[in-house]
Amino acid sequence: MSTTQTQTIGHWIDGAPRASGSGRTAPVYNPATGWVQAQVALADQEEIDAAIASARRGFEVWSELSMARRQSVLFAFRELLNERKPELAAIITREHGKVHSDAMGEIARGQEVVELATGFPHLIKGAFSENVSSGIDVYTTKQPLGVVGIISPFNFPAMVPMWFFPIAIAAGNAVILKPSEKDPSASLWIAELWKEAGLPDGVFTVLNGDKVAVDGLMKSPDVQSISFVGSTPIAQYIYETAAKHGKRVQALGGAKNHMLVLPDADLDLVADQAVNAGYGAAGERCMALSVVLAVDPVADALIEKIVERVATLRVGDGAGGPDGEPHLGPLITAEHRERVAEYVAIAEDDGATVVVDGRTCMVEGNEDGFFFGPTLLDGLRLDSRAYTEEIFGPVLQVVRVATFDEGVALINSGRFGNGTAIFTNDGGAARRFQREIHVGMVGINVPIPVPVAYHSFGGWKASLFGDAKAYGVHGFDFFTREKAITSRWLDPAAHGGIDLGFPQHD
Ligand code: NAD
Repeated sequence: MSTTQTQTIGHWIDGAPRASGSGRTAPVYNPATGWVQAQVALADQEEIDAAIASARRGFEVWSELSMARRQSVLFAFRELLNERKPELAAIITREHGKVHSDAMGEIARGQEVVELATGFPHLIKGAFSENVSSGIDVYTTKQPLGVVGIISPFNFPAMVPMWFFPIAIAAGNAVILKPSEKDPSASLWIAELWKEAGLPDGVFTVLNGDKVAVDGLMKSPDVQSISFVGSTPIAQYIYETAAKHGKRVQALGGAKNHMLVLPDADLDLVADQAVNAGYGAAGERCMALSVVLAVDPVADALIEKIVERVATLRVGDGAGGPDGEPHLGPLITAEHRERVAEYVAIAEDDGATVVVDGRTCMVEGNEDGFFFGPTLLDGLRLDSRAYTEEIFGPVLQVVRVATFDEGVALINSGRFGNGTAIFTNDGGAARRFQREIHVGMVGINVPIPVPVAYHSFGGWKASLFGDAKAYGVHGFDFFTREKAITSRWLDPAAHGGIDLGFPQHD
């Protein structure tokens, strides 16, 4: 593995790149080659303080601008992003490893939220009630929080931050984004785009770092809220710590998503969707379907169809090559590849059959890349850690159940509740599933039911800590605080005089 270091990636503070003086860095790999392509700075307290101070100044300017002025910046950002998104996709592929078309897809889904946010005046307008009591009107306004923190995971370096920052900024806040240290460059590219779009300095800050930066943001009295996406143990830590420090907090965690396949389903459609949703982005998606719950007697036929399709999949450098774009790229790090391989070994030890084994996957010309081939497991015990825990790799598990009810009960007994899907032609069964399942996002013959921007994204149980989901109406509520004003313009002739009683209506 080469350790050639060409560059140190710093922060974006005060509308400009800022080199780090912390002396601490982490390697950023190209997962397709396995080489270290840069080092990313890990912020120290001085840099955290500088980021927060700049964001506070940015907030003072931005929150005073009219909605019309703010809206024009958002429109400019949307246009620039639309024109230049292939550049961002190339950065994502280089640091994350996902194939270029998938990186374009993640940007498109993030762009939806930018587009929603351009219509923010309609979404943050308050309410007005006239003459609630004699001569008295009540109205509510929605005001920005101030400086808000966003902490994002490695697997969607553009889309996940875009779940939050367009709405936060539209509503008048200043954002400090702490991206994953594994793929930090997308955030810096986005920061430059905001600058070009005319966003005042300090309104979008990128603070690179690790736990030190995250803890610094959570503990600062000048940061009003934390929006976190990542693994469940860290989400829970963030939720508890940020709340303890008086923050508004939303913390989205991990997942283990099941697809329930009823015997009447179109098995060719199901096999296509299981392969797409199980192996796309090498399984590094929180909405990936990792368990196929096959209601008797479809499991064997389904496995056969999945195996046929897996045989056609190509693994390789997400940037493409002489044979064009592969179907899936590498995993994020060698360490993560080891972890995924360990789960397959655990499954085997726990009695599973490894129907397709991706552990020995090797890509010619990229022998040091972090590749892991599509893997299919059958007959896994339900108490195996390989079943109960999130694997986050291209590993699809087939679990057999006798009935619809058994399938629903199994899904509901899990600790996660992010996404799920049912495949059937029976409308009654689908409707029961939708009502009875304890999961936040449900697909009916749709494998990855990520809601559009004007609905909100979020799971249940250990997949979301806090009350607020991402984007949609939840997003606008999260990034504003409501103020209720009760007003009376006195008619001098109707002066009420002194009355120390609790105000009542007349
Ligand atoms: P992670 O939890 O390791 O890291 C997420 C962020 O937290 C990073 O910015 C990281 O620097 C920071 N962090 C890590 N350890 C920390 C600590 N001890 N204290 C403070 N901050 C810390 O997650 P990841 O590996 O980057 O991302 C993959 C995980 O994210 C998976 O579990 C996946 O399911 C989940 N995810 C969930 C959703 C969702 O919507 N629910 C979406 C995407 C990813």
